Amino acid sequence: MLTFDNRFRRELPGDPETSNTTRQVKGAVWSPVMPTPVAAPRLIASSHEMADELGLSAAMMQSAEVVNALGGNGVLSGSEPYATVYGGHQFGHWAGQLGDGRAIYLGEVLNASGKRYELQLKGAGPTPYSRRADGRAVLRSSIREFLCSEAMFHLGIPTTRALSLVATGDKVVRDMFYDGNPEREPGAIVCRVAPSFTRFGHFEIHAARNDTALLKQLVEFTIVRDFPELDLPADPIDRAGEWFGVVAERTAVMVAHWMRVGFVHGVMNTDNMSILGLTIDYGPYGWIDNVDPGWTPNTTDAEGKRYCYGRQPEIARWNLERLGSALLMVTDEDSPDAIRMADLLQTGMNRYDAAFDLATRNNLAGKFGFAAWREEDAALVNDGFRLLADADVDMTIFFRQLAKVEAEVGAGVEANRALLAAAFYREDLRDIHQAAFDMWLGRYLVRVKEDDFVQSDRAALMSRFNPLYVMRNYLAQQAIELATEGDNSMVNELLDVMRHPYEVQPGRERFAEKRPDWARHKAGCSMLSCSS
Ligand code: AMP
Ligand code: MG
Repeated sequence: MLTFDNRFRRELPGDPETSNTTRQVKGAVWSPVMPTPVAAPRLIASSHEMADELGLSAAMMQSAEVVNALGGNGVLSGSEPYATVYGGHQFGHWAGQLGDGRAIYLGEVLNASGKRYELQLKGAGPTPYSRRADGRAVLRSSIREFLCSEAMFHLGIPTTRALSLVATGDKVVRDMFYDGNPEREPGAIVCRVAPSFTRFGHFEIHAARNDTALLKQLVEFTIVRDFPELDLPADPIDRAGEWFGVVAERTAVMVAHWMRVGFVHGVMNTDNMSILGLTIDYGPYGWIDNVDPGWTPNTTDAEGKRYCYGRQPEIARWNLERLGSALLMVTDEDSPDAIRMADLLQTGMNRYDAAFDLATRNNLAGKFGFAAWREEDAALVNDGFRLLADADVDMTIFFRQLAKVEAEVGAGVEANRALLAAAFYREDLRDIHQAAFDMWLGRYLVRVKEDDFVQSDRAALMSRFNPLYVMRNYLAQQAIELATEGDNSMVNELLDVMRHPYEVQPGRERFAEKRPDWARHKAGCSMLSCSS
């Protein structure tokens, strides 16, 4: 049914120990492990786009064989399950060995056009890397990962994908608020798909252990398998250094996209950073409603705000520096090679900065509807964002409405005000800032008239950069609450709405509305727990 070709397992050293016991795994990058069977796997939702890509028909997706395999009961022919070793910097500190504690690779699948995908079950039971945890995932967090993976894909943002969401029929015990009140919650498993799930932490762990041979081997494997399109120099230092620059650029492009749409990852630890620059590990992520650079969805981060919306570009950069430090270990300390490598890594960091600036200018020009970015646009754009933050304005709605304002300066002030009013959460703040908004809009309209655009051209451009539908936190929460009662309709409807996030979908206005008042401080809507 699927064509497996498990190169990671075949070409990289595995753990000789085969028991499923928690341990430190050294000298190897993966451990064999089987999913632990569940009571009653049931398919709640699936992505037909992802299934098509893998060559799985709708009938196959519904078949007992596939549903069982996606729930961890039974293994498809050719699949050789395993979990991998990685480490990571968590909240700025080295955390040692982490590894796939609740993700089990089914293997690598080649589709009809020869494209390679890794398949992973998240929540399929313990692995040698589970530490003290159970290897399981609850329905609420699985719905969030399933929906957002696919939403990001349709938004045009590099991401790991989700093939399926399966309810296990088992209960999972979680203390959601870490307040000593554990509850039995329904369990679920997401089948995630990506060309590679390799993380920065996969390299860091071998560097931390001084296992340079394994580190070099993993770097070379990753370059060859995951970056086949690159034509890198043969010299190992130049090769690794140049490759790092590519990783840096991809990371920059990804984070620039996050900033464009208002996505906040929530746990940008280095073990949650993909080597391919894919958005990975959807946990306590969130979407900003009102513009607030300091907003973080993650309750664990409420104090430090390390992973808040506005700091994401800086944190991605910090994470790349950690990857760079690990790569430096392929050279001997203080050797001429080490100096050359350090230079190349610095060049890679510069490539991050340049790629981030370029992507951001392009995204901002698109968001504001400028034919091209000009350096002098920065003042107008920054003043605009400051106003949006000061006045508590919904970012998504604001930009969709801004596309509709008419560029006749002086004319239609009332009409333009009325258009933008839809984006405000608070009338008192709107009143306070109305004069400033009028002034800003005046400047904006002068600027857009300098382009060779009529309003409809500008609106068309803006609608490609500003989604109308995003996976607002409260919408996901509503879908979760219904699904917990056994009604999966909203999960499937949200999946469908998010297939065309930039297009107006008549009858689906409710999915484009701003966050209702009740959701402002509600758990699951604005505050997400890491307990998942
Ligand atoms: P995260 O914060 O979700 O990225 O996870 C950090 C680490 O904890 C990773 O190594 C995960 O595999 C592990 N982990 C998280 N939840 C569980 C769980 N329920 N069982 C086993 N390992 C887990
Ligand atoms: Mg993780």
